[in-house]
Amino acid sequence: MIRLSDISFRYPSGNFQLGIQELLVTAGEKVAVIGPSGSGKTTLLNLVAGILTPEKGSVSVGDVEINAQSDTFRRDFRITKIGFIFQDFGLLDYLDVQDNILHPYRISGALQLTSDVRNRAKELAVQMGITDKLRRHPSELSQGERQRVAICRAMLPGPKLILADEATGNLDPKNKVRILELLFENMAHHNATLLAVTHDQELLPHFDRVVDFSGFLRGENP
Ligand code: ADP
Ligand code: MG
Repeated sequence: MIRLSDISFRYPSGNFQLGIQELLVTAGEKVAVIGPSGSGKTTLLNLVAGILTPEKGSVSVGDVEINAQSDTFRRDFRITKIGFIFQDFGLLDYLDVQDNILHPYRISGALQLTSDVRNRAKELAVQMGITDKLRRHPSELSQGERQRVAICRAMLPGPKLILADEATGNLDPKNKVRILELLFENMAHHNATLLAVTHDQELLPHFDRVVDFSGFLRGENP
C-alpha cells in the first residue's frame, strides 16, 4: 500500500535531512511510527500524503507514484484516498463540527456530498460520541472532542489509507483505547491501512508493527 524507496528529503531552510532506503507497508497493515521529537515522523507522513515531495527517490501509495504527480492531482488524491488526522487537528473554527466533518466534500469536486454521505457522517458522530456537539465550533470543544471530530472527518470518505499524527495524544487512557478500537473497526470495513505516529507505549501492542525513527538522528535506517 505504501512504498518509499531511496528517499532523500530536506526542507528549504534548516539542516534536517531525512533519508529512507526502503519502507514498505502492506495493505491492511497497522503500523506505528515512534521516535523522539524532531526525528522526522511528521515529515514522513507529509511525504506519504504528498504534502511534501522528496528531493530524490519515490513515494507510492497503492499504484500511484505520488511524487511524480502534479500539485492538483496530489491534493485531490489526498482528499479522496487518504484520511489524514493532523497533529493539530486542522479544524476550521468558522465552521461548526458537522460542517468540519463534511468539509472535504465541499472543497473537492472529486467527492460528492450525497444524502448517503450525510447519513454516514451522522453514524460516525454517534460512534465517536459527539452527536451532541455537531452545532458547536471547534473552539467550544475539549482537545479530546476536537480529536474525535478530526477522526470523523478523516474517516468519512472511507479512505484505504489513514495517516494519523499522534491522533490519540490528548485523550484520557480509557478514551484513547476506545477511539483506537473504533478507528480499527471502521478501517476493517474496507481493509484500510494505518500509519500512525504515536508517543504512547501502551498503544503499541495494538499495532501489527512498529517503525522506530530514533536511529535516524544517528544516521541509521529504521
Ligand atoms: P517529528 O514529527 O518527529 O517531531 P518533524 O518531522 O516535525 O519531526 O521535524 C523533523 C525536523 O525537521 C525537525 O528538526 C524540525 O525542526 C524540522 N522541520 C520541520 N518542519 C520544517 C520546515 N517547514 N522547515 C524547516 N525545518 C523543518
Ligand atoms: Mg511530529
